[in-house]
Amino acid sequence: MNDIQTFEDLGLSDETMKALNDAGYKKPTPIQAQAIPNILMARDLVGLAQTGTGKTASFTLPMIDILSTGRARARMPRSLVLAPTRELAAQVAENFDKYGKYHNLTKALLVGGSAMGEQMKLLDQGVDVLIATPGRLLDLFDRGSMILSDMKILVIDEADRMLDMGFIPDIEKIVSKLPPLRQTLLFSATMPNEVKRLTEKFLSNPRTVSVAPPATASANITQNLTWVTPKDKKRVLAHLLQKEKVANAFIFCNRKRDISSLCDFLKKEGFSAEAMHGDLAQTQRTETLAKFKNNELTLLVCSDVAARGLDVQGVSHVFNYDIPMHADDYVHRIGRTGRAGMTGVSWSLAVKDDEKYVKAIEKITKSELPVVEVDGALARGANKGGTTRPERQDKTKSDNASRSRSRHNNNNSSKNNDDNAQKNTRSEPKKPAVRKPREQKEVNPYDHRTNHNADKHKRYQDDDLPDVVGFGEDLPSFMK
Ligand code: AMP
Repeated sequence: MNDIQTFEDLGLSDETMKALNDAGYKKPTPIQAQAIPNILMARDLVGLAQTGTGKTASFTLPMIDILSTGRARARMPRSLVLAPTRELAAQVAENFDKYGKYHNLTKALLVGGSAMGEQMKLLDQGVDVLIATPGRLLDLFDRGSMILSDMKILVIDEADRMLDMGFIPDIEKIVSKLPPLRQTLLFSATMPNEVKRLTEKFLSNPRTVSVAPPATASANITQNLTWVTPKDKKRVLAHLLQKEKVANAFIFCNRKRDISSLCDFLKKEGFSAEAMHGDLAQTQRTETLAKFKNNELTLLVCSDVAARGLDVQGVSHVFNYDIPMHADDYVHRIGRTGRAGMTGVSWSLAVKDDEKYVKAIEKITKSELPVVEVDGALARGANKGGTTRPERQDKTKSDNASRSRSRHNNNNSSKNNDDNAQKNTRSEPKKPAVRKPREQKEVNPYDHRTNHNADKHKRYQDDDLPDVVGFGEDLPSFMK
């Protein structure tokens, strides 16, 4: 399987090859090269791959060819793709449109937040491909809108995220309604025990293909970290947005209420910004995403759940307005830029209490985040004792120099970094302890992973919980 170099080697139909040609793809990605022949041979498959590796096409392409023989009957869909979020489900649906344009397959996208009437009508007409989030699928099933006994192919996409979001009981329920004789494909970036259990339960003698690299940040991304006081965050962000050549950017917040207030602030400052999080109506989320993709909107202020896995071409910047509490999320967030061979820039705004999260990120990415001082932030923040890495206060010039060496491009910034870091070191003996108790209090309530673990199978209610998603050596060259 490893010697597959071209799409011609994969055994896809002429119509699908034509669609691939239209898409401008030159060769299959590693997950495509490994998965497609196995799927075409009707094997069950476990695909260890994350978004950004061409994983979606690795199952949509062969599914289109398999489903092109045969016809859908009313209310009896022939295949089902389960995705954890509405946006990911919509992305899968777009893939079917893109690669299936020379076939006459019918599809329905069943996601929460959109009217059920239209979805029921489509089901009535008969669909070849059903793409759904688990909750909405069960809602419609319970209303008698579909019969699942004719299902030929089941795809469980992003299984580890399903687990994090508490969807496993729903999935088990759904699978129990499917015929035992079917082809099952399961994709996951990581393989926690619970997901492994699912594969053992639902897949029959599966082939496992893997392109999951360790979590590392893409070398195409110039990363920056700046230490700020909580009070200065908005101002520093606005300053960066003005100073940097931001074509478009994801701005990640940890909490929904901060998304709204930050978005309002940015709009007032004259930026083109919209919010994206799980509480917004689906129509609004879809519209906002479409505007962002079409470059009608510059800044998408978002939560992890809304933006995770989103594939938007040519994003110039990612800002972590809040440092993610789970290091894997950092890799995933910044991976929204520097995609498909392009370069990108990320900025992370850290407050003193983020120290432990920054350390965790540095551990997982196996590199020290280059600290860059933002004009004005240090001067103001330093007076308050909040802008420097607490335990690095006594670190010396050579440390800072080595940090600046690890920056990829921006030599000027590196130089500033050195100079400023030295200034930073000198102005160290501040009053770091003063603010700590209050900030500590602010952080604890967000620790929803702890809460989540206490009640593992509760249907997910809040913003996203993370999983490991890496970007690294195994990526095809066009994505490096
Ligand atoms: P995914 O991992 O499915 O989110 O795909 C990531 C991106 O890679 C999407 O924008 C796809 O359109 C693109 N892509 C998928 N397969 C290929 C390929 N063989 N050549 C070039 N781009 C691809």
